[in-house]
Amino acid sequence: MPRTGFPVMMPVYAKSGITFERGEGVYLYDNKGQRYLDFVGGIAVTGLGHCHPYVVKALKEQADKVWILSNSHTSPPTDRLAERLIDLTFAETVFFQNSGVEAWECGVKTVRKYFSSIGQPQRYRIITFKGCFHGRTLAAIAASKTDKMVKGFGPMVDGFDQVAWGNLNEVRAAITEQTAAIHIEPVIGEGGMKPADPEFLRALRAACDEFGLLLYFDEIQCGMGRTGKLFAHEWAGVTPDVMCIAKALGNGFPIGACLATSKAAQGMTVGTHGSTYGGNPLATAVGNAVLDIMTQPGFLDRVIRKGDYLWQKLDDLVKRHPKIFIEHRGKGLMQGICCAAAISNEDFIKALRAEKLMTVAAGDNMFRLLPPLIVTESEIDEAIAIIDRVTAKMVAA
Ligand SMILES: *Cc1c(COP(=O)(O)O)cnc(C)c1O
Repeated sequence: MPRTGFPVMMPVYAKSGITFERGEGVYLYDNKGQRYLDFVGGIAVTGLGHCHPYVVKALKEQADKVWILSNSHTSPPTDRLAERLIDLTFAETVFFQNSGVEAWECGVKTVRKYFSSIGQPQRYRIITFKGCFHGRTLAAIAASKTDKMVKGFGPMVDGFDQVAWGNLNEVRAAITEQTAAIHIEPVIGEGGMKPADPEFLRALRAACDEFGLLLYFDEIQCGMGRTGKLFAHEWAGVTPDVMCIAKALGNGFPIGACLATSKAAQGMTVGTHGSTYGGNPLATAVGNAVLDIMTQPGFLDRVIRKGDYLWQKLDDLVKRHPKIFIEHRGKGLMQGICCAAAISNEDFIKALRAEKLMTVAAGDNMFRLLPPLIVTESEIDEAIAIIDRVTAKMVAA
């Protein structure tokens, strides 16, 4: 086809017009040599910053060994990553995928298959929460039910019953003899940086135990150290039966994983599920390198400290500019600010970008700050100074 002027990439994203050529740590460099402070990181993906040398080395070394095997075979990095994820969590078994939503959907299939394998196939419905985001496949949009994501894509996949965020009465009232699981993001990311009350997560665990349901957590964004624990649910002291992870596990190399107990995974037998690329040794070599760093003593404590530092700075900012900002929410190094109704978050994000700070939108008219976990206090100060400058201009205008 000759070029028609139609966007060469399907125009489902509003483009910034910036072409980035390389990244290093917390910085991105565009094709004009301009440097940006990146507090997005591919949306909570580059937990260790761009091109972390240790991770780059692991990828290059694996590139000289073997790239792909059928999942009928395995490789040292893939076995090792599965074993380490099991050692570090509630899980007894893992299936690797290539993205967040694939790992998420593997979790949904694991839940459904569990009930069919114990002779209760009528129990296939999953209770989900308003405001949560689980990805963009047909099943994932049916679970989150967000207007702009579902409109025009019907008919929706059946089997997801949505209730209000944080409302235990609604959860309990929604449980029927068809319910299989309760599913939640322990900290809502896209939907507006809302941590679930630890008490609420404990109550969900109790409800699952009471009614024989599986508890399924989506830690694709809030996991992998983002909140200062390797996984966000650790703050509540409860464990799920199934969990999906992705994003920072590969620091930018695509990988996702579905983790489960042996009980929950009992239906996932030979031939029931699969993936061509899932668990390829390039991805799992990177995953191991990421875990090497994140499990070093003190790493997560530093995330907590830097999260507290960012919290104080943002709190102060919101207090100083009550006309521009409404509130500030989040946990660890996933935080965001809600802009006042008169200011669109998208406009604010553009203004920050013009000053070379990258942030990203979230629900509730929010802009999100997701710096790499290796961010320093002085880089946080640099970001705060930019937000302050942009805010002062808006107050003056
Ligand atoms: C990003 C995200 C997903 C989807 O991951 P993809 O890799 O984009 O498919 C699912 N759930 C949560 C909580 C996410 O943040």
